[in-house]
Amino acid sequence: MRPTGKLHLGNLVGALENWVVLEKDFDSFHFIADYHALTTNLDTSHIEEDSFDMVVDWLAAGIDPVLSPIFRQSQIKEHSELFLILSMLITTARLERNPTLKDQVRDLHQESISYGHLGYPVLQAADVLMYKANAVPVGEDQLPHVEIARELARRFNLQFGDIFPEPEPKVTVFPRLPGTDRNKMSKSLNNAILMSDEPDTVKTKLRGAITDELKIRKNDPGRPEVCLIFTYHKKFNPAELSEIETDCRSGALGCVECKQKCGIKINEYLAPIIERRKEFETQPNIIHDILADGEQRAREVAKTTMQEVRQAMRIG
Ligand code: ADP
Repeated sequence: MRPTGKLHLGNLVGALENWVVLEKDFDSFHFIADYHALTTNLDTSHIEEDSFDMVVDWLAAGIDPVLSPIFRQSQIKEHSELFLILSMLITTARLERNPTLKDQVRDLHQESISYGHLGYPVLQAADVLMYKANAVPVGEDQLPHVEIARELARRFNLQFGDIFPEPEPKVTVFPRLPGTDRNKMSKSLNNAILMSDEPDTVKTKLRGAITDELKIRKNDPGRPEVCLIFTYHKKFNPAELSEIETDCRSGALGCVECKQKCGIKINEYLAPIIERRKEFETQPNIIHDILADGEQRAREVAKTTMQEVRQAMRIG
């Protein structure tokens, strides 16, 4: 994940929760994509603080740094080396076709993008292939990037010899959680509920959320299938889901009450996470030690992969 600060519910249910499950069965690597952050923001003054906040969220969600190394991408120089090699194996036309890039450019209202931004899926492929990953647990927006990583693995293996497995994406049941305005929940769109939001903040954000524009009065029948609050109920309030669906459709349940119920459930879900967050927030030294350990472990794997790569390519 890019270090963009505190994480939101989309990051949690689309990726992070899956990491917590998967790390029990897979050798996992979790990294702070600090070089990736430069693609959309050259101001690095907050990068340290944002990285810290993100790792705190990871740990609060249950990531175990003993099971799986946590590290900063920038500290494992081999990523940049593999990125350079892989960048020779893909055309600019292929990168220009990337739908996630097109969405980003549209959302950020950019007229033109940097060479590094165009090529960032190649850096991402290097990040993944470096650890010979079989699986990449991400949200839906990242699927085109995993496809590029698969193509690059095939291309490298064909040209130089079999080194890299083709990684498979692993998405959750909520691969694209909507934000309070119905677009994909995203930090940059100002529509996000943060994992660290206090109960009152969650309630306020939900109050402003768009539901079903055809349900104007409390007793009007609603359409759960178009309502983002219903999507949140699916995740955070499964026990009451069928009752909410029936009462929404019949008009017995108004949006104000439905949002209140939803807020209570989201807050219950987040309470233990926020509690754990407080433990880590006050002990920055723990985070530094976790990164130092993770970086040492990641570097060992990366060095071995790059030796194999150079040998296969007959350079160095
Ligand atoms: P953002 O879009 O807020 O900048 P990132 O691009 O840093 O978030 O995403 C980090 C991870 O969280 C990725 O695996 C991404 O697919 C996942 N993710 C981000 N937003 C959502 C969402 N709304 N629903 C599901 N997964 C998401």
